[in-house]
Formats: sequence, structure tokens, C-alpha cells
Amino acid sequence: MKFADAGEDYPKARFVIFGIPHEDREMSFRAGARLAPNAIRDASYNYESYHFSSGMELSEAKIHDAGNFELENGVEFIRRVVEDGKMPIAIGGAHSITPPLVSSIKGDFGVVILDAHMDFRKSYLGSPASHACTARRIFEMLGEDRVVSAGIRSVSKEEMEEAEKYGFIYYGMNSIKNLEEKIPFEKIYLSIDMDVFDPSIAPGVSNPEPFGAGYEVFDFLKAISSRIIAMDVVEVCPPYDDGSAALLAAATMREVIAWKARQH
Ligand code: MN
Ligand code: MN
Repeated sequence: MKFADAGEDYPKARFVIFGIPHEDREMSFRAGARLAPNAIRDASYNYESYHFSSGMELSEAKIHDAGNFELENGVEFIRRVVEDGKMPIAIGGAHSITPPLVSSIKGDFGVVILDAHMDFRKSYLGSPASHACTARRIFEMLGEDRVVSAGIRSVSKEEMEEAEKYGFIYYGMNSIKNLEEKIPFEKIYLSIDMDVFDPSIAPGVSNPEPFGAGYEVFDFLKAISSRIIAMDVVEVCPPYDDGSAALLAAATMREVIAWKARQH
């Protein structure tokens, strides 16, 4: 099954959606993120092709769905998509897919992470590739002032101390409003850990954290849409809700595509 309105062939496409049904061998709380790519595709058929707030007809947005990939192949694929001048949108999977995807893209850009968690651990459950270490790996790769994390409301004492010590840029829940003004780089790889949203609207995530974000995320997506060069949506865990988190994930993807497509 393809994402709704993704009827374009690869050569003519402007947006390229692909799934990476990868999760850590040891998920820290709930397993099931590998089921998310197809659940999110399924949920995308709930929506009209017309995107109300932007006035964009998504069936005309030139969207291609390339199917699902093993992580290593997805890492190769995202490089090609960017080199071909298209915008890749990866559907996870666990948040552990993001550092390898980011490492594959060449050019001058930084990473914005929306997440309830800081993900700044050196290692977790014996693995430096854990979804709890995502921001740390990207920070080590790109360096200071090249990663901004926002929406945080859960962190360990050690992560907090190390973030301060190394100068990691992070913001809490109340800073998503006008966050676009606080990003010290122009081109953005956007990584949305769906647990940034409140669990009342996205219960089916791997590590739910109460009192999260709502519509302000969509205002932020609109504000930065012209700066986004690549995007991933991760950590939806379909067995743990009635489809709500998958619906919201599909909506966030549509939001970015619609606002970006309108700029052409
Ligand atoms: Mn995360
Ligand atoms: Mn998280």
C-alpha cells in the first residue's frame, strides 16, 4: 500500500516517502514501532486530498512512495533522493534510524528534533545505537550549533549534566511557539519523535510522556517548511492505541508537504 496521494513516479516526484520498519533489539518500554510505516499509510486515507489550511491539492503535489526498506538500504536511498533534488520523508521505525539517515546526507544543514525526551545518553541498555541516544549521536556527528531539540519534558540527571557541559541546545515544552527564530542554521533535517505530542492525541507511541504538544507543532511546521530538506517521523507504536498516533503522524507529513508544495 502507498501513502494517500502518492501517485507520482520517482523521476517526476518532488516528495519521496519511504518506510523503515526498524526497531531496536531492546525497545525500552513498548515494542511495535516496526508496524508504523504501514499503519501510517493506512491512516493517510482518512484525509481529503485537499489540504484545508494551505489550500493545496495534495494529489498535485508530486508525491512518490518508494515502499519499505531495511535500515542500511534506507540510508543509501535517502542520499540518492537528496542528490536528485527531492525531499525525502522517512517513516520509522524507532528513533534509532535518524543518526544513520542524517549521516548519509551531504551538505550544509542542521537537525531539529521534536521529542519529549532528550535522547542524549551515551549508551542505553548496552547499545550506543539505541533510540535513547539519537540526539547524542547526531550532536557528536554534526557538532555544536547544528542540532536543536525541543519539546523536552523527560531526561535523566546524567543527560542533563552532559547537555550543559557540552553545550547541547535544548528547549522544553513551552518553547515550540516561535522556535523557528531560535534555530541557528538555515537548512533543516526535521526529526519528529511522535511522543512530542500529548498522549491524549497520540497514545500509541513507544514511550508516552503526559502533557505534551498540540497544534503549536503545526504552526512551527508551517513556519519552517521552506527550510526543511529532509524529514522523518518516528516512534509510532500501533499496537498501543486505536490508530490515533498513526493518524496524527500522517497529518504531520501532509502538513509539511502541503506548505512546501505551495512554495512552487
Ligand atoms: Mn526520541
Ligand atoms: Mn521520545
